[in-house]
Amino acid sequence: MSKPWTRRQVLAQMGIAAAAVHTLDPHELCCATPAWAQTADKELFELQKVGDGVYAAIAAPRYKTNCNAAVIVTNDGVVVVDSHSKPSAARALYKEIQGITNKPVRKLVNTHFHFDHWQGNQIYAEGNPGLEVVATQRTRENLTRPDAGLGGIPFVEKQVTTLLPAEIQKLKDDVMRASNPEMKARLESNLQQAEAYFQELKSFKPTLPTRTVSSTTTLQEGGREIQLHVFGRGHTDGDLFIYLPKEKIVATGDALIDWMPFMNDGYPEDWVQTLSALENLDFAQIIPGHGTVLPKSNLAFFRGYMADLIAAVRKAAGEGASLQEMQKKISDDLAPKYEKGMSKYPIGQYRDRVGVNVEMVLKKVVKKA
Ligand SMILES: [Zn+2]
Ligand SMILES: [Zn+2]
Repeated sequence: MSKPWTRRQVLAQMGIAAAAVHTLDPHELCCATPAWAQTADKELFELQKVGDGVYAAIAAPRYKTNCNAAVIVTNDGVVVVDSHSKPSAARALYKEIQGITNKPVRKLVNTHFHFDHWQGNQIYAEGNPGLEVVATQRTRENLTRPDAGLGGIPFVEKQVTTLLPAEIQKLKDDVMRASNPEMKARLESNLQQAEAYFQELKSFKPTLPTRTVSSTTTLQEGGREIQLHVFGRGHTDGDLFIYLPKEKIVATGDALIDWMPFMNDGYPEDWVQTLSALENLDFAQIIPGHGTVLPKSNLAFFRGYMADLIAAVRKAAGEGASLQEMQKKISDDLAPKYEKGMSKYPIGQYRDRVGVNVEMVLKKVVKKA
């Protein structure tokens, strides 16, 4: 299993969270890693074996979040699920994969369109002529749609032209203002990472899915059965689930993570149904989009949070509560059941996200905006 967060990391994160003056933008809420993240490049991923020839590449925290990947070795090649936020991260994992097998990567599956799950696609394509990049039809559309949300070619352009220059300027200001040397060092590291990420994105080569699926599809890959399940909307409107029936493993992308869910591009009510459909599959282990490998029982916990949140927002809206009142009350009411389990990492914690989740449910479920 992956290393637990050290007390020092957690304390450092808490101190910085308290000291930092942040304007929360959705990008930050989804995917930026806070100031403590300083993992060396060689430790970007921890490859964990979850079954015979099946690995979870658990992403270490970085300033720009990388997703987990699933790596499935077949008799004649490799299937990789998701490709991280940048080519250099994909390259680091690809190198690790080459350490376990010299077989070519034949398929790369993108679970959804968010930036931290597809921006490394080009690395696998460059190294593997004939690579198929597989996603849902909707994900392929989202990757080119200007208003899709936190991912896709238009979002890369937005990062390069506006978001990253502003973020880099803010980091420079924060470095100037930092009084504590430890914090200053971390901010400087983040600034360096942000600048490197900016440079990488400037020469980014969009590598879109070459094969799309619109409904559940079974692949026979070198003696291994891999099912691609489309259950409906959830974290996005194009979520794809990868299921290995023999090995009893699913890879879920961000439709199921070990953090608080990011709901801004999501469909909360559908999401609950989608997770119930997923639960009907016979599996034991989950490779989530973020966090460590989980047992199946975590599905009910994650879905329970969303179902309870929806019920609480509906009730509060029915009673005429304001958004601020709802955020305060619901955060506190759901905390005994969910705060501990949803705050295992210094990122994506319960209190960081519950307020925005309330706002999203109000907007998407009650007001149906
Ligand atoms: Zn993600
Ligand atoms: Zn996502």
